[in-house]
Amino acid sequence: MDKKVTSLYIVPTPIGNLSDITLRSLEVLRSVDGILAEDTRQSSLLLRHYQIQKPLQSFHSFNEHRAVNAIIERLSKGEILALVSDAGTPGISDPGFLLVRECVKAGLAVECLPGPTAFVPALIKSGLPCDRFVFEGFLPHKKGRQTALKRLAEEDRTIVLYESPMRLVKTLDQLREFFGPARTVSVSRELTKIYEETVTGSVEEVLAHFTAHEPRGEIVIIIDGKKD
Ligand code: SAM
Repeated sequence: MDKKVTSLYIVPTPIGNLSDITLRSLEVLRSVDGILAEDTRQSSLLLRHYQIQKPLQSFHSFNEHRAVNAIIERLSKGEILALVSDAGTPGISDPGFLLVRECVKAGLAVECLPGPTAFVPALIKSGLPCDRFVFEGFLPHKKGRQTALKRLAEEDRTIVLYESPMRLVKTLDQLREFFGPARTVSVSRELTKIYEETVTGSVEEVLAHFTAHEPRGEIVIIIDGKKD
């Protein structure tokens, strides 16, 4: 069967270090008819850095439901577009799923280029088992938070969470409550950036560290799975 021409490219972008973009991602961004971007201002900085000039259209969680039909129509007429988010891989705690689902339904070919995403380096450098893991993204802030924590406390695979610096200490405090103070946890912040830091230890130790040193920047939490 002949391979269909790709209509939509999902293009991962750096999570901090601008050099972390693949040659193929740059080729694709140079070749498409237009780029859908979570934040057009943020993406234009990256595109300017690589001297890429393309029409940009905003595509974010507040307009994706409204925008998706018109985009499918353009792709069906033969336009080729790329989707980028502010950082990392679109669809991973970022807009992307809805558009890809509609492309699949419409029989349009989607290609997702491999590239940066924050949880992979955090998981690998944690030293915790990475043969089986569960990605949970951001925990709910209010409703459903306690239920999620109770469920995850029983999980035997390594757990991956995204977190904001403002909420890190509160979350570690709740991990101590729900998972116990001895559970191993690894917090990676500012991956690929100047102030990259990974702190690994018991929940008690890591909580003490971030209580003494106010957390800043972007954060991934890796939690050891429950052991018998
Ligand atoms: N699409 C992205 C990906 O593929 O990882 C995730 C986008 S999500 C809106 C943003 C969250 O990813 C941040 O709050 C943080 O938890 C994590 N993150 C992004 N960049 C990071 C970095 N350089 N270091 C640590 N965590 C990062």
